[in-house]
Amino acid sequence: MGDPRGFLKIGRKPTPKRDKVERIQDYRYVYEPMPDGDLKEQASRCMDCGVPFCNIGCPLGNLIPDWNDLVYKDKWRVAIDRLHATNNFPEFTGMLCPAPCESACVLSINDDPVTIKEIELSIINRAFEEGWVTAHPPDPERRTGKRAAVVGSGPAGLAAAQQLNRAGHTVTVFEKDDKVGGLLRYGIPDYKIEKWVVDRRIALLEGEGIEFRTSCHVGEDPTTEELKSEFDAVVLAVGALEGRDVETPGRELGGIHLAMDYLAQQNRRVAGLPVEADPEISARGKNVIILGGGDTSADCLGNAHREGAASVQVLTHGPKPPENPDHYTWPDWPFILRTYPVHEEGGERQWSVAVKGFEGENGQVTKMNAVETERTPEGKTVYKEGTEFDMDADLVLLAIGFTGPVHDRLISDLDLGFGERGAIATANGGFATKDPGLFVAGDAKRGASLIVWAIAEGRKSAREADEYLMGETLLPG
Ligand SMILES: Cc1cc2nc3c(=O)[nH]c(=O)nc-3n(C[C@H](O)[C@H](O)[C@H](O)COP(=O)(O)OP(=O)(O)OC[C@H]3O[C@@H](n4cnc5c(N)ncnc54)[C@H](O)[C@@H]3O)c2cc1C
Ligand code: SF4
Repeated sequence: MGDPRGFLKIGRKPTPKRDKVERIQDYRYVYEPMPDGDLKEQASRCMDCGVPFCNIGCPLGNLIPDWNDLVYKDKWRVAIDRLHATNNFPEFTGMLCPAPCESACVLSINDDPVTIKEIELSIINRAFEEGWVTAHPPDPERRTGKRAAVVGSGPAGLAAAQQLNRAGHTVTVFEKDDKVGGLLRYGIPDYKIEKWVVDRRIALLEGEGIEFRTSCHVGEDPTTEELKSEFDAVVLAVGALEGRDVETPGRELGGIHLAMDYLAQQNRRVAGLPVEADPEISARGKNVIILGGGDTSADCLGNAHREGAASVQVLTHGPKPPENPDHYTWPDWPFILRTYPVHEEGGERQWSVAVKGFEGENGQVTKMNAVETERTPEGKTVYKEGTEFDMDADLVLLAIGFTGPVHDRLISDLDLGFGERGAIATANGGFATKDPGLFVAGDAKRGASLIVWAIAEGRKSAREADEYLMGETLLPG
């Protein structure tokens, strides 16, 4: 521990952000780097609490107190080694993780937690600047001769691929999109993670010997049989991208879309890639309604502002969560109102509102029929009698969750069964499916979740696959 009295003298400092008027004019990263002096002070707030609950709160088991101390002591090189020991892609989590570790930080019992995520990001940024992050291909002598396939190139697939490659297997990643990255590429907006950050990591993975085959929809080409016969082990990291829809009168009208269709198109436009989708979805000049209140909804909101929407309303059918935990939740992730930078940029948020239907002209939506909701004593959300009202709408984006992996040819061929939240079923609580040599990780296994979980599961599934291939494994669990 750097300074035993740090947490008594220094308060938490938020990460600086670009001015909101400036940032909605572009798609560049919202946050600014924290100056080194501030970082060192923030790291000194880590109080050597004895049992580091932050480390348990992080699904990767990141060695947080170690790197807080190392940053305080200016030992950045050791800090990145310690960080990479548990996290393949700290730049992804440093930018995007909601930081359950901070809710678990002992300081957060009666104070603000250590700025763990910001310190993580600074360590990896510094390491890239210094040229310390380089490709480490395995020794050719240590290649095992086994072939492993990873289906899906989101964070789970990328982590599984890197770990399997480190174990000496020859790894091929299949991706149905034209570019690698999963939701990091076609989902999460550039103002949360600019795509050169993803490209930089992919180049390193290629440099380590991993082969990427893009525009390859496994199940079609290659077929499921070809995949199984060509590879000794397969990790399915296909995500949980089947969007939940509404069944209301007027749903067939134009201008009502699943949020992911809009977000993927936006990321293509921002990258200067062709958008071949029909119809093209744009919020420019429109009255936009976003249904749903999570990450996907927030990403639609930020994009709609950057496109120049006339108005944006974000509607959630449940009640407004408390702004602060009203009961003692530490070290768990509290159920509170989450406010992201995009919410500061404009738009209106409403809670306890549900959709009853849509109306339109010439096949295009013009109005949404809404109703207020209330909670019954049993905790059910129901319509509140006599509270119906209409809202103007030119574009409606449905960001109301995901029902599990897309049921494409691959998934139906494999017939592995489904568990909770539509996720692919596994055997014995691990990552193996009932089909020997076939493993599953990330959102495909958990249902829609977080990047930190995807990386953690990619690592663990690789360990199980390595053990299956070799009879033993040295990969970390
Ligand atoms: C809009 C949005 C914003 C989010 N924001 C955040 C955030 O800020 N922070 C956070 O922690 N989490 C966020 N999440 C959640 C996070 O992105 C996911 O939990 C994470 O990406 C899951 O990783 P994955 O590798 O399991 O799947 P994905 O990232 O979904 O990748 C799956 C990949 O598999 C490919 N694929 C599927 N089937 C096949 C096939 N048959 N053949 C070949 N390829 C196939 C898909 O094309 C896709 O590229 C967000 C999610 C969404 C939808
Ligand atoms: S990955 Fe997420 S939970 Fe883990 S230390 Fe980083 S910010 Fe915290």
